[in-house]
Amino acid sequence: MSYDNDNIFAKILRGEIPAFKAYEDDNTLCFMDIMPRVPGHCLVIPKTPCRNILDATPEQLNACMATVSTVANAAMSAFGADGITLQQFSEEAGGQEVFHLHFHILPRHEGQKVGPHGVMGDMGEIKANCAKIAAALG
Ligand code: AMP
Repeated sequence: MSYDNDNIFAKILRGEIPAFKAYEDDNTLCFMDIMPRVPGHCLVIPKTPCRNILDATPEQLNACMATVSTVANAAMSAFGADGITLQQFSEEAGGQEVFHLHFHILPRHEGQKVGPHGVMGDMGEIKANCAKIAAALG
């Protein structure tokens, strides 16, 4: 399996399509999922190419995990959440749809169910939730 330079997250990294960006550093980017399963659902990706957990280097994984930890803590405070669900899918059989490594961060409240898969969110709400995470990051 090889990396496709034209996957949608590669296009976001190149600035060819828009994204609500909550955080970035030299090696990683966090942006909002446009089909959020919960308010504040966001994605962390490495800035360098890899398909998923199966071909990622230790450096890519380490960088992503550091950002996941930073953003997860910010999302806890931004949404007054009780916990975080972290998801990662690798290859089609594993549930992956976009073939650039990404980690889903879902801030959760006690007893809160996740919403359905594949439903486009309200862009105004997603933008506002992005701003909440960014503000919590200071
Ligand atoms: P998966 O590959 O199954 O881990 O899921 C890919 C995720 O990317 C899904 O949750 C989609 O809602 C999300 N997604 C797809 N296109 C975009 C986009 N242009 N901007 C933000 N999120 C996206």
